[in-house]
Amino acid sequence: MFKIVLFFVLYFSFSIAKHEHYDGYVVYQITVTDKQQAERVYTLENELLLDVWLYAAPTIPGLVLVPGPMRERFQSEVAAIGDTNKPVIMLQSLLHAREWVTLPVTLYAIEKLVIDITDKNLVDNIDWIILPIANPDGYEFSHEHLRFWRKNRSTGHTITNLCVGVDLNRNFGYNFGLWSSDIACSEAYHGKGPFSEPESQAVRSIVLEHSNRLELYFDVHSHGSIILYGYGDGILPPNGLTIHLVAVRIAQAIDAVKWPSKPNYSVGNIALTFANVSGTAMDYVQGIGVPLSYIHEMPAHRNENNSLTGTLVDPDYIEQAGYETWEGIKVGARWVLENSRRNKH
Ligand SMILES: [Zn+2]
Repeated sequence: MFKIVLFFVLYFSFSIAKHEHYDGYVVYQITVTDKQQAERVYTLENELLLDVWLYAAPTIPGLVLVPGPMRERFQSEVAAIGDTNKPVIMLQSLLHAREWVTLPVTLYAIEKLVIDITDKNLVDNIDWIILPIANPDGYEFSHEHLRFWRKNRSTGHTITNLCVGVDLNRNFGYNFGLWSSDIACSEAYHGKGPFSEPESQAVRSIVLEHSNRLELYFDVHSHGSIILYGYGDGILPPNGLTIHLVAVRIAQAIDAVKWPSKPNYSVGNIALTFANVSGTAMDYVQGIGVPLSYIHEMPAHRNENNSLTGTLVDPDYIEQAGYETWEGIKVGARWVLENSRRNKH
């Protein structure tokens, strides 16, 4: 039990002395379960300049007098503290600009978590972080200029800016530079150094901020009908079997509702099934101790001539892409709820 318990024990709606008016004031009793929570409450009380009658500690509930206009903020911030033990799942798309079909996946997830909620359990008990456009400049460029642009749009890599952009999925600080290119004109150019790019820095900040609660990181790409996991050098994480098992379950859930024209998903270590890679977001997140970190490669489109057209998909597939992938993400989320690190304490 980690939640901070908060309830008011006194509500003043009258003047209790001739010159003292306490209309709307409330005395709250606060129960904390550990020292960390006590420190958070103490910090909040100090910040709001509250009149603390008794400091909360794991051994004794606290008492604090809160003026009416501050009650809403006080309650919401204490409640938000209370939520810091939920597991976190992060979904991300468009780290590679041209992989447009990945965006419906994250937008569909938002729809199912905010508007059309069919799995309330996943909303109430998980904190979701969803980054739909991880490479905004590149995404815009792929719309405005070159449809198959993959990198970001950073400059300064060549003297005349002949070639711009960094492959963001080679720019993260895990095995940086081992199996990527240091040639700026390459599609796999890794940048000047690990985390040289603002986009990868932004992802790193989010991940580090929540690293102790982040249980599942799901980076959606296109294409291949495959769920990949680390590491890019072929060395498996210590929980490799679990990572593989959860990926298989996700794949099976998607296969159960996919279009018959699409192949079944496969699952595997990225180096063993694809190639050695370095500097991926997936490996970085896995490397800082997040239990489950995946690259999810969406299916390719097969045109009338039965040839694969890569990241270009039939517009009819867009909604299906969101629907079927969400079926898989839900399986991963349910696994997290049953097996998060918090449950094992
Ligand atoms: Zn990609």
